[in-house]
Amino acid sequence: MKNKEIANLLYKIAGFLSLKNENPFRIRSYERAAQSIENLSEDIENLIYNKKLLKIPHIGEGIAKKIEEYFSKGKIEYYENLRKEFPEKILDIVSVPGIGFKTAKILYEKLDIKNLNDLELAAKLNRIMEISHLGEKTQQNILRGIEFIRKNRERIFLFTGLALAESIIDELKKKARIKQICPAGSLRRKKETIGDIDIVCASTDLPGVMNAFINLSQCKRILLQGETKSSIITNDNIQVDLRVVKPESYGAALQYFTGSKEHNIKLRNLANEKGYKINEYGLFKIKNNKKVTGKKEEDIYNQLGLKWIPAELRENQGEIEKSKTNSLPKLIEYSRIKGDFHIHSNWSDGKDSIEDIAGKAKQMGLEWIVICDHSQSLKVAHGMKPEEVLNKIKEIKKINKKFKELKILCGAEIDILANGSLDYKKDILEQLDFVLIAIHSGFKQDEATMTNRIISAMRNKYVHMFAHPTGRLLQKREPYMVNMDKIIEEASRIGTFLEINANPQRLDLPDIYCRKAKEKGVLMGIGTDAHALEQMEYLSLGIWVARRGWLESRDVLNTLSYKQLMKILQQKRK
Ligand SMILES: [Zn+2]
Ligand SMILES: [Zn+2]
Repeated sequence: MKNKEIANLLYKIAGFLSLKNENPFRIRSYERAAQSIENLSEDIENLIYNKKLLKIPHIGEGIAKKIEEYFSKGKIEYYENLRKEFPEKILDIVSVPGIGFKTAKILYEKLDIKNLNDLELAAKLNRIMEISHLGEKTQQNILRGIEFIRKNRERIFLFTGLALAESIIDELKKKARIKQICPAGSLRRKKETIGDIDIVCASTDLPGVMNAFINLSQCKRILLQGETKSSIITNDNIQVDLRVVKPESYGAALQYFTGSKEHNIKLRNLANEKGYKINEYGLFKIKNNKKVTGKKEEDIYNQLGLKWIPAELRENQGEIEKSKTNSLPKLIEYSRIKGDFHIHSNWSDGKDSIEDIAGKAKQMGLEWIVICDHSQSLKVAHGMKPEEVLNKIKEIKKINKKFKELKILCGAEIDILANGSLDYKKDILEQLDFVLIAIHSGFKQDEATMTNRIISAMRNKYVHMFAHPTGRLLQKREPYMVNMDKIIEEASRIGTFLEINANPQRLDLPDIYCRKAKEKGVLMGIGTDAHALEQMEYLSLGIWVARRGWLESRDVLNTLSYKQLMKILQQKRK
């Protein structure tokens, strides 16, 4: 698949255009297109052959032509020309959290900084603070940012990992005799980013499975080929490890390779206390080395006096203790989900009409959806003027009449302005079914200012939910400075809901805060932040975050029926 390659090229075009101070809408359109391609589960090559590029969200004629040019000629002339105007690695500088294009340009012009190494050196030599408006704090942030990048560089998004593992497993099932197969490692634990992909498989034909694995269509390079373990690098440069065991050891292998390391250490100690040892082949009595069990994961836990523990909880955060006393949470499941809190339509920067969104929601079996478009200040995302909001409310009333089993709520994703006030006034707020508030600007405020800004916005009685609360973009941008404990405390006090934004790059509220919020009795809601129909399927990612955060059905508002939801939304405003 060349999806990643193409997405990167489009990102780079956006980057060069920013360095040239081009029209922000134009820049945004390249970024959007890149994002869509990055999140595409289908191979972009197929879409090109079938002339379906324009079906991809945010891809218009101009960008489609450039992608086709890349496939037919191996390069894009437009990009090649842009590139010549700047040093080769200058865009790496912008990947440092906190450095925007303006700063990059200044650093390049004044200090001749052309790449990450130049930047690091300049920061260490205290040269950044020589530039008048940058100062010592920026210099420290830059050093921290470089460290962040080096640490995070090679990880992939959960969404990408799940899709890749699924396609590999499907192909293996077709080409080899497989009894059982499952992803293991951090992918099975549904961590937000994954290092490499581990798969565990049970078969009576080990060589047959290994042969199928190293001949996968995804395989670019074989790293290791063994009897029970092989590793490959895929076309997207992701490492995949496959372990094949006999069916009688499948449970043990799956448990062992799922981890986490900390969870397994604790489990091993518990086993030892009880006179057992545990490894990837099974659970054995120490005194006579006799195998007790190993076929099913559940049997291993049970033998140690524990209830089976869902993989998402295996982080040694108290799950083993809770399992002993049979008091693990009954984690939320996807089948309980009835709605989506956060969908953008073509009234702001979404790709699709409200009717098409409703059609997709019906197809997904949802009972209700909330259309949340951007508010007026967010001009790059076509934020809506108050009078447009009023029109949209009327329009949704009309569309609602056409759908029997689905209810469409009119919401808005409203900017929290720098002083903590909201981007719409009371007259609009009170007419919206649902008010979602978010930070989209002024990311650089200090912690106290940012925290107070958010809290004062939350205190507006028309507000229901706070969107993507930490503002992080995985691998791209660190959270803004905010005291999340205080936000959770206040949400608990006044009954504000917190969003679990299910966009693959956000997954925000992060799992650890979900758990904290739950403990304080804060209710959470999953929003996909979809800007195109296919992105509505991110709902399942929200479930994974919720499960890692120990959430049960009752903690998550998406499990409510339309009636229950309306009641709770109205109560919040009293
Ligand atoms: Zn947002
Ligand atoms: Zn949004």
